[in-house]
Amino acid sequence: MLKNDKDLGEFLSNKPIYSKIKLESGFSSANKFDKSTFQYFCEIDESIETFELIVYHGYMPFRDHLNTGGQKHWKNKDDFFSLTQQYKGICKRCNKYHIDFLLNTYADEEGLHLRKVGQYPPFEITPEKYLLNYFIKEDKENYKKALLLLSQSFGIGAFSYLRRIVENEIIRIIEDLSNLDFPESNQIKDLLETYSKNHQMANLIEGINDYLPNTLKSIGNNPIKVLYSQLSGGIHSFSEDECLEKAQLIDTLLKFVIRKINEENSEIKIAREAMNKLSEK
Ligand SMILES: [Zn+2]
Repeated sequence: MLKNDKDLGEFLSNKPIYSKIKLESGFSSANKFDKSTFQYFCEIDESIETFELIVYHGYMPFRDHLNTGGQKHWKNKDDFFSLTQQYKGICKRCNKYHIDFLLNTYADEEGLHLRKVGQYPPFEITPEKYLLNYFIKEDKENYKKALLLLSQSFGIGAFSYLRRIVENEIIRIIEDLSNLDFPESNQIKDLLETYSKNHQMANLIEGINDYLPNTLKSIGNNPIKVLYSQLSGGIHSFSEDECLEKAQLIDTLLKFVIRKINEENSEIKIAREAMNKLSEK
């Protein structure tokens, strides 16, 4: 049921084309969505921003603009109300990036519904902001593709993209660990130094085992090692369902690791600021 802007935003952002959502019985006008706001990914700002929806009024083609007879074309074959309108969603931050929607408001025996019948640029699933901020450019795209494939249960495809992401990001993750402010980070730096000379990835991954921050060790195993182990072996030995499960697990673990690194970073920043302020007094 669409009750507020938040529901509308969720519908516009996260539902594929031809999805529908029920409208409240008090719904009065399709134009009602005009000036609604919603959260959406802006490709210019490269982040999730507030967008405003603007309807193409054009004197409401409601009545007689169709040569062949006006109002009857705003009903479906069963004589139920059906109106399609074009909307533009505009990013309020850059005021430049925009997305077009074709929205159909229609009635049937069950009441009124809103249906998405067009969207350009096309529907894709929007990843969480902290991940997009973390990934390199190529992996932002890889991750969006992985999520889209996951949403349709295409396991082999999703698994391939997530493996590629792990492959691309794993050294960066270890570098970030080495830059965290905790006693063992120097040992991780040393291991990276050795890796830069001998390129023995397995040794690096094994080596950092003892030096991980507690937050990452808290789940009982070295999550970096588990992620890395997903890169070995061919995809061909797994079924679509096995790949789907693996892809979901990699996604969960990758998010955990990146979230923890971000948390460590911001906690240390806050603690350091507090310390500096106190020592000034
Ligand atoms: Zn923008």
